[in-house]
Amino acid sequence: MGQRSSAEHRDFSPLAAELSQSLLAWWEVHGRKDPALKPWMFTKDGRWPEPHEHLDVLDCWIAEVMLQQTQLQVVLPYWLRWMEIFPALEVLAEAEEQTVLLCWQGLGYYSRARRLHGSARQLLKHIGANASDDPQCWPRELEAWLALPGIGLSTAGGILSSAFNSPVAILDGNVRRVLARLQAHPRPPMRAQSLFWSWSEALIAAAPLRARDLNQALMDLGATVCTPHSPRCGCCPWQKQCAAYAAGDVERYPVKDAPRAVPFQVIGVGVVLNKDGEVLIDQRLNEGLLGGLWEFPGGKQEPGEAIVDTIARELREELAIEVIVGEELISLDHAYSHKKLRFVVHLCSWLSGDPQPLESQQLRWVRLNELSSYPFPAANARIIEALVGRLDPPRQAEGSCNEA
Ligand code: SF4
Repeated sequence: MGQRSSAEHRDFSPLAAELSQSLLAWWEVHGRKDPALKPWMFTKDGRWPEPHEHLDVLDCWIAEVMLQQTQLQVVLPYWLRWMEIFPALEVLAEAEEQTVLLCWQGLGYYSRARRLHGSARQLLKHIGANASDDPQCWPRELEAWLALPGIGLSTAGGILSSAFNSPVAILDGNVRRVLARLQAHPRPPMRAQSLFWSWSEALIAAAPLRARDLNQALMDLGATVCTPHSPRCGCCPWQKQCAAYAAGDVERYPVKDAPRAVPFQVIGVGVVLNKDGEVLIDQRLNEGLLGGLWEFPGGKQEPGEAIVDTIARELREELAIEVIVGEELISLDHAYSHKKLRFVVHLCSWLSGDPQPLESQQLRWVRLNELSSYPFPAANARIIEALVGRLDPPRQAEGSCNEA
């Protein structure tokens, strides 16, 4: 255990009112109150809402889910496109899952899209299509949101405080970092969740009529001042109370667990072509990483196995087909949070066997210009680019999410 700060045990409640006040005063001047940056946080006539005003709940809900593991700048174009395609609850609820995944393509953590879709169906039953435009008809209780797939405490708090100005706290990565530094907390925040929640709740309790502004201010402070690296303490409204700043060691916080070794795997991938020039793709099972997305078939290289043998074996085991493994198309590295993968991709010719989805939902032979109608993970998108460049250089892949 590292050095303990006296701030670890300081009583937060007496500080909360002062902290909330100085944070809100800072945010009034420096907050990210730009309708071009966070359109879901503004009224239909382009104003920051007054405390008694409600915002569009669908807008806030979609934004909160997209922001779960993704930064604001990345989320914005996705959110704008999403709201054009699914402007109402019933449109989202009634959409094909493939259309939903296609519109999420590139945002990562795809289970979020499938859960959003499932939640939309549940909510539609609860609210009804005719009423979904009226904020009053949407659930306002934390429990109702927590009952939906993929909605945790912080997301529910974000939705309720943004849409209704409800006095509910949030605790995302930004907020954890700021509070960890403010308190110079000597353990990783994820190991002291209830303590961190109590701090965030105390801030809201000190300004219950301005929960929307306060939560936004906390996020803005974390994103623009108390950043992961080189925080700008000179501009911080909490500098006076900040225990990490007082200790002269702000980047020591939040304290992290020792990094775990990230496993590395080589994946052999076969781009199988038939005599009509169509390519074989499979849809992953819904459970697990990248569930429901499409991909080129393949699998893990065994120790001591040549990559061409890996590809031939995987296609035999997963699709029950025999292929001739030809030249390499591309090799690329891709890092996930818990593992690093190297995809070694070879062009293959289909020799025999009727392809069977033995470890996937379904298989399809598709033409090159149809590939963009299927949602693929990021690494596969690069394979498609290489494939189109190799087999069909003058033509671009056609179709887009907007056509779905
Ligand atoms: S003083 Fe520095 S470390 Fe402390 S909360 Fe402010 S920006 Fe973060």
